[in-house]
Amino acid sequence: MSLHKHLILNLKVANIQTINAPWLVSHQISLDVLRLDKIHPIVSGNKWFKLKYYLLEAKAQNKTVATLGGAWSNHIVATAFCCLKAGLPCVGFIRGEKPAVYSETLKQAEQFGMNLQFLTRTAYAEKVADLKMKGVISRAIDKENIYWIGEGGYGIHGAKGAGDIALEYDLKNFTHIIAGVGSGTMLAGLINSATSKQKIIGISSMKGNAELEQQVKNLIMEKIKCNNFSILHDYHFGGFGKHPGELLDFINGVYTDHQLPLDIVYTGKVFFAIRDLVNKNYFKPHSRLLMIHSGGLQGNAGVKEKILAF
Ligand SMILES: *Cc1c(COP(=O)(O)O)cnc(C)c1O
Repeated sequence: MSLHKHLILNLKVANIQTINAPWLVSHQISLDVLRLDKIHPIVSGNKWFKLKYYLLEAKAQNKTVATLGGAWSNHIVATAFCCLKAGLPCVGFIRGEKPAVYSETLKQAEQFGMNLQFLTRTAYAEKVADLKMKGVISRAIDKENIYWIGEGGYGIHGAKGAGDIALEYDLKNFTHIIAGVGSGTMLAGLINSATSKQKIIGISSMKGNAELEQQVKNLIMEKIKCNNFSILHDYHFGGFGKHPGELLDFINGVYTDHQLPLDIVYTGKVFFAIRDLVNKNYFKPHSRLLMIHSGGLQGNAGVKEKILAF
């Protein structure tokens, strides 16, 4: 993978951190965290894995990359940065009117050379739906020398790349793999690469996104594996991007106790869910849990209250 060199990514720095806590001991459960947040400060976590096969194909076909996201999308920044390093021109279609003041995300994406275009919410939703459909049927959408990547990297190539997480780091010995869910691409990849005995649990960051299960199933290669996962919808803390004081306090507590920095959009909610599920006896004794720390820490800059301890 020659793109690695351009990005100066070091996949080896993502270690597995063991969590020691009384609530784990009392339920006879072990918890480890795969620290994908460490692989790169900008293209952290799962974003590199989801993007790599798209970018290799776009590069081979000499295309301009286009993708979509909201004004706070980690996927937009990661795409902009990877395209810069890979020497690929790229366009980012952003949901909503052009703001008078750019978010940190948009500022960074533009600095990395992404051409930003703003779409009305209706036009945006239509494009996302269109790509979702085509992304599943055909791998790449070839139009006007544009190489489209679905919102959040959703699509078969994205899931294939995310599946490489389980190959890069040996995850076979865990009974459960638990990860945050946005588009569901990472979860699908993890399900595809897991053994048939492993259970994959997704924690949705959104409030009541009923389409997620089907979205994930559409990217699962062996249909039998559709039985190996569940998505939990009760840990959104009010909705996507919502971070009430209770969540921030929890994140600070985890940092104090375990030196584990969590992000406010995904991984904070995942860790909270794990503790809650363990305490509710959701897992059998002797379960070996693995949480995927999918990154996103740069998004914490958006916390206005600035009460995070790290
Ligand atoms: C993008 C992202 C996710 C969600 O990944 P999907 O494949 O879209 O479900 C989870 N965690 C972090 C930190 C992310 O940036």
